[in-house]
Amino acid sequence: MSEFCASLKQITNTIHEMAREKGFWPEEELDEETLANRILQLWEDTGSKPIASKEALQEIITETIHLARESAPTNVGEKLALITSEVSEILEAYRHGDPSAEHIDGFRATEEEAADVLIRLIDFAHHQGIRLGEAVEAQIAYNAGRPYKHGKSV
Ligand SMILES: [Mg+2]
Repeated sequence: MSEFCASLKQITNTIHEMAREKGFWPEEELDEETLANRILQLWEDTGSKPIASKEALQEIITETIHLARESAPTNVGEKLALITSEVSEILEAYRHGDPSAEHIDGFRATEEEAADVLIRLIDFAHHQGIRLGEAVEAQIAYNAGRPYKHGKSV
């Protein structure tokens, strides 16, 4: 593994762990059968008692909704849109004359938003099993052999 890939892997783990802690990823993605079994387990954990009250039924419904939300499959389109929204924030920073960053002292707004793009991209790539570091190195090697402007006008 190259030094670049090793460094990227290390920071990727930090980024992804933090994203999980902040609620950007479900604890796990459950299929319907597993989800149903988890709900049945909740009922068994209470002694498999008959559901004899509205409150007991409400508790099971609430827990079911909670589990379903927590285990929702990843919306790839939404995750990609969040990356592009950070790109738009770089443009907005330029449109406002690139003021000081809002949240990180000593940086420009464009730097802050570029960092957001990279953090979201790294996190997304990790979750999707994309070999980002290796692909970057391969793409750089490929680009090195391409013609001026990659043979295009822009
Ligand atoms: Mg941002």
